[in-house]
Amino acid sequence: MASMIDFHCHLDLYREPERVANEAQERGVAVLSVTTTPSAYGRTKMLAEGRPAIRTALGLHPELAAERRHELSHFEQIVPSVGFVGEIGLDGSPRFASSRSAQLEVFAHILRACTEVGGRILSIHSRSATMQVLDELGRAPNSGTPVLHWFSGSSRQARIAIDRGCWFSVGAPMLATSKGRDLLAMLPAERILTESDGPFTTTNGRQTTPVDIPRAVGLLAGLWGVTAAECEQQLRDNLRTLLAQHPDLPDERTL
Ligand code: MN
Repeated sequence: MASMIDFHCHLDLYREPERVANEAQERGVAVLSVTTTPSAYGRTKMLAEGRPAIRTALGLHPELAAERRHELSHFEQIVPSVGFVGEIGLDGSPRFASSRSAQLEVFAHILRACTEVGGRILSIHSRSATMQVLDELGRAPNSGTPVLHWFSGSSRQARIAIDRGCWFSVGAPMLATSKGRDLLAMLPAERILTESDGPFTTTNGRQTTPVDIPRAVGLLAGLWGVTAAECEQQLRDNLRTLLAQHPDLPDERTL
């Protein structure tokens, strides 16, 4: 098993995806390589070829729901063969208000498709839509294990998400704000994974990549009052637990 975990990274959206993928593999960072459309899945999966630390998730990003809902049939064709689904979810920010019904239709459709194949590990976007995401997950209780990526809801919503069995992938930007740290302090350590969300985040003025995960680990270790090594061990244990909840995933290799 890899020593560190980047559970939400858009490898295919870097200018040099092969270089970023190689660095992650060489440095022992396990990467969940999420995609934003079903049509991006095939070529993104090629980045995992020969790189056992990388897993590719099948996604349809809420920001693209309206223009790409015709790809849902493509999603259904691929989902039986993948263990991980993401990036999926809902975005309630005003910018995407016009696509809200399309977002809901796409997200509900995806959760049904995941239910039909026996459940998947889900990397979920929930910006300004935490309760709507939790409601949809509540309607699809057998769709898999939700991992809320870059959670930004309220502390009350965090408590509900915890009660509903959600996991959380967290990155350095979340750990850098007092609101994020306050939320993190509430979340059970055994349901946390780290993420870069690269290339949409920056570290020292450049795009964050999976090899920047040690920074998030260091911040998390500080918050938990443990050493970086202890923190890494906790995160590896967490990933093992998560995968053990899904012994029948089609992608049989463990991260
Ligand atoms: Mn993302």
